[in-house]
Amino acid sequence: MLTASEGAETLLREVRQCRRCAAALPHTPRPLVQVSTTARVLIISQAPGSRSHARGILWDDASGDRLREWLGLSAAQLADPAAVAMLPMGLCYPGRAASGDRPPRPECAARWHDRLLHLVPGRRLTILVGHHAQHRHLPELRHLPMAERVRQVAHRQDLAALPHPSWRSVLFMRRHPWFEDELLPGLRAKVAHWTR
Ligand code: SF4
Repeated sequence: MLTASEGAETLLREVRQCRRCAAALPHTPRPLVQVSTTARVLIISQAPGSRSHARGILWDDASGDRLREWLGLSAAQLADPAAVAMLPMGLCYPGRAASGDRPPRPECAARWHDRLLHLVPGRRLTILVGHHAQHRHLPELRHLPMAERVRQVAHRQDLAALPHPSWRSVLFMRRHPWFEDELLPGLRAKVAHWTR
């Protein structure tokens, strides 16, 4: 019988070798995930970007810089699997669309998402970045615009919802000044609590 950490290693090895939707991807699959049995912050997002794909590091781009600023984390803290887990809904870079990246491959979450979630402690802060993650984990708020979803869960100590921190989020912040003035300070306090 496998121990928990052997089971996790086996699963992660299986994930890294996955080629299930290779024919639909613009590059050789490079599944990216960061999980551990000690991380008490879990960031669920949509899919790695092109730079993350090239370097093999999640959130290693301008959007990642903005996300770290929102969360009050250093690059080293974000990259530390013992403290922060990162699980995109699609684990491989899906390629470019006419505006922005393509959505995560749907077969990916069906195959891996729940199994990988089991590797992360149940008591944690879960941060849902973008509508793909929010639709999966907050289906009851699916009908609401992003700003409303973000506000609806802001009081929760174990949950946060954020827009994707791409350049478009600058427009979101301009339209919703409460996001920077009120929500981000509270979010940073939550993250500090769960990472100390
Ligand atoms: S996107 Fe997911 S399902 Fe497709 S090859 Fe990558 S890991 Fe496998």
